[in-house]
Amino acid sequence: MAHYPIEPFKIKMVEPIKMLSREQRIQKIKQAKYNLFNIIAEDIFIDLLTDSGTSAMSDSQWAGIMRGDESYAGSRSYLHFERSIKNIFGYKNVIPTHQGRAAEALLFSTILKPGDYVPSNIHFDTTEGNIRNNGGIPVNCVIDEGLDPASTFPFKGNVDIDKLQKLVDEVGLDNIPIAMITITNNSGGGQPVSLENIKQVYKFWKNHNVPLFIDACRYAENAYFIKLREKGYENTSVKDIAKEIFAHADGATMSAKKDALVNIGGFITMRDSELAKRMISRLIITEGFRTYGGMSGRDLEAVAIGLQEGLNEDYLKYRIEQTAYLGESLLEQGIPIVQPPGGHAIYLDARSILPNISQEFFPGQALSISLYIEGGIRSAEIGGLMFAYIDEKTGKTIYPELELVRLAIPRRVYTRSHLDFVVQTVKKVMDNRHMLKGLRITYQPKLLRHFTVELEEIS
Ligand SMILES: *Cc1c(COP(=O)(O)O)cnc(C)c1O
Repeated sequence: MAHYPIEPFKIKMVEPIKMLSREQRIQKIKQAKYNLFNIIAEDIFIDLLTDSGTSAMSDSQWAGIMRGDESYAGSRSYLHFERSIKNIFGYKNVIPTHQGRAAEALLFSTILKPGDYVPSNIHFDTTEGNIRNNGGIPVNCVIDEGLDPASTFPFKGNVDIDKLQKLVDEVGLDNIPIAMITITNNSGGGQPVSLENIKQVYKFWKNHNVPLFIDACRYAENAYFIKLREKGYENTSVKDIAKEIFAHADGATMSAKKDALVNIGGFITMRDSELAKRMISRLIITEGFRTYGGMSGRDLEAVAIGLQEGLNEDYLKYRIEQTAYLGESLLEQGIPIVQPPGGHAIYLDARSILPNISQEFFPGQALSISLYIEGGIRSAEIGGLMFAYIDEKTGKTIYPELELVRLAIPRRVYTRSHLDFVVQTVKKVMDNRHMLKGLRITYQPKLLRHFTVELEEIS
């Protein structure tokens, strides 16, 4: 039997949820054009769409909300926010943004020229979107193990240095103004990156004079995995591991909606003060003044507190073990998932669950929809619908290597019985999988299509 951790908190406030009937759910998904983003939250029973901005805040954070200083310039809450970030990340410049993608938009609009390449292990979808939106080309250089759902390699988020070298040889350093690493690697199954790898990647780019930025959304979960799995860090505190991570990069973007345990917020932080200055000019046009950047004082306060709570090792132990519990319980039922379980989510391997639906008919989306019909569960497709694109040279559609359905776990929100219900629901869908139908797109926008795409079932 899979192990369930004891929650290191008790519940002070509750939010009711309820399940619609099966007929209602079928009706709702049809009305939503088979896009789960179009279903209203009250019509969802268990919402595993994302772990982004869905955390339960602590009593300290709520107290901080009351203490928020709403001054336009130089508020006390901003100073607290800045102090909290510098204490962990160690860079001189901190720029608040309303969420992670705004930090990415600032970074890439400041640093990219059309035709530039941006390597990473695997870029997240908003990162890809922001790179493309500024004329750049995102390149994924994760190790091969990171693309094999069955590999149990402990650091499947690692960057393949040979792939970086190949990219440099092919496109030249003049066309690589910045490099990135995503920790944990969200689009590759929430898998961690080792400190050894971060150090190697930093050294590689430093030798070429290319700045390395970390997409740090889940840096605390990544640091905890390093403590668990990487030799030599067993006795190092997670906070010191985090500090060592950021000592081996030039800056970081972060969505505070993840490991800072808040519902909105983000920032970008970096060594280079000249670069920060250029970004602040843009920030003032698009987000707001440099001491609030699109956030209220109370939100800045909640981030300042949440960042430190996110590094608490009792919390992280619970967090990582809860995710592992869901993964191991699914495996016990014979359901194929990306192995080993990542930090914030379990990824169902839709390609092996639905081998009869070819990738052009979106097996991941078909699986995701059936989880809603069967149990009112909302999940996210991370496959062809999210990542396929048309190659401009050949006109061919390029599909991603992985076809996954993500069950993201909101932080401090669901209990063991919620997760047990999820496992039972996936099992039911698995037992009736021959009934599932593929889907066809009836409407799509140009970028980030999964948010607004409309589909129909193929009969
Ligand atoms: C969520 C996320 C982002 C974008 O952050 P938002 O706050 O949603 O804009 C970027 N990178 C990764 C890895 C993420 O998980």
